[in-house]
Amino acid sequence: MQAAILEEAPGELVVDTVSVDRPIDDEVLIQTMACGLCHSDLHIIDGTMAFPLPAIAGHEAAGTVQAVGPNVTEFAVGDRVVGCLSTFCGTCLECHVGRTWACVRRGALNLAPTRAPRLTRNGEKIMQMAGLGGFAEEMLVHRNSIVKVPDELPLDRGALLGCAVMTGVGSVFNGAKVEPGSTVAVIGCGGIGLNVIQGAVLAGAERVIAVDIHAEKLGLARVFGATETVNASEVDPVGTVVEMTSGGVDYSFEAIGNTKTMAQAYGMLGMGRTAYMIGIAPEGTTLEIPASPIARVAKGVQGLNMGSNSFKRDIPMLANLYLQGRLLLDELIAARIGLDGINEAYDRMRKGTEARSVIVFD
Ligand SMILES: [Zn+2]
Ligand SMILES: [Zn+2]
Repeated sequence: MQAAILEEAPGELVVDTVSVDRPIDDEVLIQTMACGLCHSDLHIIDGTMAFPLPAIAGHEAAGTVQAVGPNVTEFAVGDRVVGCLSTFCGTCLECHVGRTWACVRRGALNLAPTRAPRLTRNGEKIMQMAGLGGFAEEMLVHRNSIVKVPDELPLDRGALLGCAVMTGVGSVFNGAKVEPGSTVAVIGCGGIGLNVIQGAVLAGAERVIAVDIHAEKLGLARVFGATETVNASEVDPVGTVVEMTSGGVDYSFEAIGNTKTMAQAYGMLGMGRTAYMIGIAPEGTTLEIPASPIARVAKGVQGLNMGSNSFKRDIPMLANLYLQGRLLLDELIAARIGLDGINEAYDRMRKGTEARSVIVFD
């Protein structure tokens, strides 16, 4: 099968032929139908997040089940599935208390470099990002890396449920637990931020303030339900949001992973409120926030991982919200590309002006 492989970081992805083993134990072989391009892949490609190479990046994928290992009873050939990087074992203490996103055995399930090779190129082991490796015609994954979705769900849109939508909406529903009537600020209106915005709308927020430096993205933020927008290239976003809300917001979300905007998310909070950090900052960077108000104004900072998901419950729920017309997915997709267009699409992402590019496999 064909796959886009990252051989060195920073570097470009190279499309090449990879051999995939048949599924054993808890594995499921999937024919990939679509895979979205996410910023986390870009961190690996640009060398700002360490990952063992060579590897197939891509972790926002959907497809159909081709074959299952002997321990797999939950899936059958032909099932339509969406992948999620929050692979879980189902037996550790975190899994037992419902915090599958925090499973302590994830590394052993799919990322361990010591694991016997399942994907190879000329006999050389090829790693799969997040146990998925969606920039490939086939994925060999753990059964707890995927979930079944309704047959009516188009899989180019379904793929986005696995990362961007799960992270954005999940951060609102499961992480911050945004209350009806509240005021929410979202910094960064890309694939994740737009989903924080529509999650906040679904949660019943009264005001949803979108902050970005690109006018096009602020326009898109309105489509996803933002009630107000702030162009941070024109005004000071912290002062503006604090003034708009007479003292600060109830919830702020940073969906970029930039230490400057992370500090802004903290700065625009009201008293006793928490800033939620969703974007992944480059390794080695430090977040600086004023220490004095932490206790005095009782403000907090909370990181969230993958929308604190229970994805086997959450992703089918999100699929149904889409099928009911209550969750936007079509509008997230800026471009549909082939595997060979991947490097150009990442160049466009570096410029940061559009929502999501999705690889569609024929
Ligand atoms: Zn992602
Ligand atoms: Zn576990």
